[in-house]
Amino acid sequence: RGMARKPIVGGNWKCNPATASSLDELVSNFDGCAQYLDKCDVYVCPSNLHVALVKDSFKPGIKVAPQNCNFTGCGAYTGEMSVDQIKDMGMSTVLIGHSERRGEFGLPTPKESNELMATKLQYILDQGLSCVFCIGEPLPIREKGVDAVLAECANQLEDIVPILKSLEDKSRVVIAYEPVWAIGTGVAATPEQAQETHKGIRDWIAKNVDQTTADEIRIQYGGSANAKNAPELSAFPDIDGFLVGGASLKPEIADIVAAIS
Ligand code: PGA
Repeated sequence: RGMARKPIVGGNWKCNPATASSLDELVSNFDGCAQYLDKCDVYVCPSNLHVALVKDSFKPGIKVAPQNCNFTGCGAYTGEMSVDQIKDMGMSTVLIGHSERRGEFGLPTPKESNELMATKLQYILDQGLSCVFCIGEPLPIREKGVDAVLAECANQLEDIVPILKSLEDKSRVVIAYEPVWAIGTGVAATPEQAQETHKGIRDWIAKNVDQTTADEIRIQYGGSANAKNAPELSAFPDIDGFLVGGASLKPEIADIVAAIS
């Protein structure tokens, strides 16, 4: 792994837990991550409703990042959370572009386009926050092979090229590569598949943004990452960490952080 790239692991709680009374337990699962913070950045994305309840509950240094935000500021935007509000509450990073928001699962969420993602990213950075930017291909594209996968990733990154170019501190944007077919399925990408894709994304960035960005930007893997597969995935040079869904609701999140630290 490149010297400049500090590993980063995030926990995405999605729309969990069902009861606020379970939050203490979920927070305590992250206690075991704190000892690795000098070697690995750690963040958690609680649900919109719970984020304010838990934001000060984690061990110092573990960041809380909402799962989405808007790009307009406050105002008449029912159901939205603004970057200004997130910042005001002392949070410094936000996740955007998860495939469940891009509409990949056909769930009743608004379809969020590549163009919208670029607008959001620019707005987030302008407001001084950092961002985890999710990309990834659905199964029919993976079945066509790695070239099709990389073309789809390029398609999802194209609109943010100028933003990445002008970004001084490349650690402020983290790309989360999450193949849609691996999310919540128990079928993670193989380490070789993940490495090949991460390297392909990095090479594309070198060519279309610049070499510095390619060297410095962190690319997390997401999709059924767990304590069992994390050690093997971590061994590959272009895998800079994980975005963890299901396993971030369990104590094994600490083992995943340990694996890459
Ligand atoms: P999973 O989810 O780890 O449950 O597959 C990952 C994600 O969607 O971020």
